[in-house]
Amino acid sequence: MTKGEDIFRKIISHCKEYGFIFPSSEIYDGLSAVYDYGQNGAILKNNIKDYWWRSMVQYQENIVGIDSAIFMHPTVWKASGHVDAFNDPLIDNKDSKKRYRADVLIEDHLEKLNEKIEKDVVKAAKRFGDSFDEAMFRKTNPRVLENQEKIENINRRFVSALEENRLDDVKALIEELGIVCPISGSRNWTDVRQFNLMFSTQMGSLSEDTNQIFLRPETAQGIFVNYLNVQKTGRMKLPFGIAQIGKAFRNEIVARQFIFRMREFEQMEMQFFVKPGQEMEWYDYWKQERLRWHLALGIPAEKYRFHDHEKLAHYANAAADIEFEFPFGFKELEGIHSRTDFDLGAHQQYSGKKLQYFDPETNESYVPYVVETSIGLDRTFLAILSFAYREEKLEDGSERVVLSIPPVLAPIKVAVLPLVKKDGMPEKAREVFDRLKYDYMCQYDEKDAIGRRYRRQDAIGTPYCITVDHQTLEDNTVTIRERDSMKQDRIAIDEIAQVVARRIDIRPVS
Ligand code: ATP
Repeated sequence: MTKGEDIFRKIISHCKEYGFIFPSSEIYDGLSAVYDYGQNGAILKNNIKDYWWRSMVQYQENIVGIDSAIFMHPTVWKASGHVDAFNDPLIDNKDSKKRYRADVLIEDHLEKLNEKIEKDVVKAAKRFGDSFDEAMFRKTNPRVLENQEKIENINRRFVSALEENRLDDVKALIEELGIVCPISGSRNWTDVRQFNLMFSTQMGSLSEDTNQIFLRPETAQGIFVNYLNVQKTGRMKLPFGIAQIGKAFRNEIVARQFIFRMREFEQMEMQFFVKPGQEMEWYDYWKQERLRWHLALGIPAEKYRFHDHEKLAHYANAAADIEFEFPFGFKELEGIHSRTDFDLGAHQQYSGKKLQYFDPETNESYVPYVVETSIGLDRTFLAILSFAYREEKLEDGSERVVLSIPPVLAPIKVAVLPLVKKDGMPEKAREVFDRLKYDYMCQYDEKDAIGRRYRRQDAIGTPYCITVDHQTLEDNTVTIRERDSMKQDRIAIDEIAQVVARRIDIRPVS
């Protein structure tokens, strides 16, 4: 097991042990790629939503938020292209009987070549020391050039085969590259087939009356079909955005990475409507702006990178992912897409209703272009936990597991603990708890020795523990212990709210 796999396994079991995430319907042995959020997970998830909503809707004058239904008219998915093109190419290994996404097999192979290049660069940097010219090395080293050429060749063939739906060529490429099944180690592959990822169900109680409808695979279409409603009722002027948070459903072929890839998940999406021709400017703007949002959480910049798409979806003229370094490597966390007028144009055509904007400056009407930011809530949750999970050896030789969750997102902000369960301390601690609970999610805990209670709070990421002791009864001061440094200070009860407020302030993001 690699180090990353080991950490990932530990995070999954930590999530379960501390009430963050449970397998769905666990008493029936679970349901594949579906999860439930427990008592701490639900708050963390809500806090992430709140952080996103505040910075995208509350702090932006020209973005409003909506909440559209999961069920939509079936023609929506015809117009959006999902009925015809929301497919993944799948391939089975005949020996292990495991199913894979053919595109992911090839992308993983490309990533390995890329890793080889990066290794060569690191090695050379060590060898040459200060005199190392990285750009020159990348341009001239024969091994780097050879791998770079391989990557470009494979990419070219792979992208055109997928775009033109030449599935035989995708299979031929997998065979030629010698890609083996990680389980069986064999190259005994089936043909590549397309598989539509939308779940469908029936609406209406009588079978003759039934109408096939879909569970939305993205929240974006709920925004597009409401474009005119919002623009008119909100008297919105271009450029403006519509945001929403909601569930989406995809019948994923390969769903083996905990909450990274689920069949029921949540998205936080924002469609920004702009004047045609200005989309690239806004695309660059939102790329930077969204990265800033991530970095404002205090997670180091080297955990993030952009990945510009070579193969563009049918609706896009530019697209990039913000990737995060999960324990299993850099993977997509958020997508920023320039969607042109594809969606509004298609809905206009299919519905027969005009979805245009009258520009008072130029006196013309046109279909706006759209730049979208689309982030997975569950993936953000996993990114935060991957960053936050830490096993530490302490000076006294003991160990602790601490979740260094950014304080603004931590499920419990303050734990109030009487040092011992007597001498009036529990009563005093309850008083403190009752004062703080209206402002912050707090927890009162009087069970077990104080050290164990600190550990329990560390394990769920509580930034502050307040301890009520003998001195509190005399002078109304308490000790406040900070989660990451474990430093303890003595402060007046009246000061607690202020100290906590300072730490969880997110205004700098606005
Ligand atoms: P991937 O390539 O990983 O399948 P995607 O490119 O299909 O993702 P988008 O359609 O751009 O994803 O969706 C936007 C965001 O929604 C993604 O960046 C991701 O964070 C999230 N997301 C997509 N599919 C899932 C899923 N099955 N489970 C959890 N989150 C998801």
